[in-house]
Amino acid sequence: SCALKTYLVTGGAGFIGSNFVLYMLGKYDDIRIVNVDALTYAGNRENLRSIEGDPRHIFVQADIRDTERIAGLMEDYDPDYVVNFAAESHVDRSILDPGAFADTNVLGAVSMLNAARHTWERADGTWLPGKRFLQVGTDEVYGSLPLDDPEAFFREDTPLCPHSPYSASKAAADQFALAYHDTYGMPVLVTRCSNNYGPFQFPEKLIPLMIRNSLAHEKLPVYGDGLNVRDWLFVEDHCKAVDMVLERGRVGEVYNVGGHNERPNLFIVGKIIEECAAATGDAAITEELISFVEDRKGHDRRYGIAPDKIREEIGWEPETAFEDGIVRTIRWYLDNQEWMDHVLSGEYRSYEPADATQV
Ligand code: NAD
Repeated sequence: SCALKTYLVTGGAGFIGSNFVLYMLGKYDDIRIVNVDALTYAGNRENLRSIEGDPRHIFVQADIRDTERIAGLMEDYDPDYVVNFAAESHVDRSILDPGAFADTNVLGAVSMLNAARHTWERADGTWLPGKRFLQVGTDEVYGSLPLDDPEAFFREDTPLCPHSPYSASKAAADQFALAYHDTYGMPVLVTRCSNNYGPFQFPEKLIPLMIRNSLAHEKLPVYGDGLNVRDWLFVEDHCKAVDMVLERGRVGEVYNVGGHNERPNLFIVGKIIEECAAATGDAAITEELISFVEDRKGHDRRYGIAPDKIREEIGWEPETAFEDGIVRTIRWYLDNQEWMDHVLSGEYRSYEPADATQV
């Protein structure tokens, strides 16, 4: 058997998944990662450029809904841990095409659970030791908090109340994962994280979109009154939480991941304008670029996480203050304009990595 601890990570060419793969290979020498990604529009192999040629990273283009293929990979690589990041992740797209979200996020998660169960469950119903399946979830499954009660937070026992097709599909996936624990005794963990920001985020999402548009002097579209509140977490802090929950979490449990970093969207956009203007010395980057647009349908007002459980049980706390994280993020997009250009032109879709690790 292989001495290296093996992770099967899905969605590892997307925003958080690629950050996780880079974080883990940077942190540990003695691991290998089988990175399974279908390369939808959101998957970008350029995110993994810095680890090209690293034999500890094995990229496999496959769909998580292909249970047989995933079970085959599980037999071939015998992973200790499975981390399911793969999903359709954009709320606005879920409003236009909810079926795709049911398909990938719900049926895809069930397919992953089935593949892992098939490989890890013994004939007598016991499980191979040391195995863990982590379903990566979102705080959006809890619904919306009021703006006028700043002491109200999402906790792990807050009833699920998803409003968007995206959050409904993610809630269903979480519940399937927990059901596999409760029904079959499968070693499953669920994390529910707040909004992430950082390098490699697809520019349909608020922060990279606003950075990109600021630099191009294009309009900065802000939904409604701009006062919707999100709890922002630097992506590396999320990656660290996933690592720690895999190591220390209790199976069958949910862990919320957030950092008491709540900001209205308009504040975020103002901060981006300020930092982009400062970093470039470009006097045309001003609040004049802001343009209020019709509110998103069913737009949740406020998300806010009480991260007591993960802090007390796991010892995780966010390390990156928003003021530092946003500056690092803006600098990253400024320093990696080629990455952004390739995304905007569509060139990233035909990117061929310079190594032979693709299966
Ligand atoms: P993303 O859209 O950037 O990446 C998703 C990745 O999954 C892409 O690489 C895509 O190619 C891949 N994928 C999609 N469908 C697939 C399929 N059927 N089979 C295999 N691969 C497939 O998303 P993200 O922002 O990195 O989010 C990753 C996970 O984290 C998602 O499960 C999301 O719900 C969750 N999450 C995201 C946030 C956030 O702020 N972005 C917050 C909390 C939780």
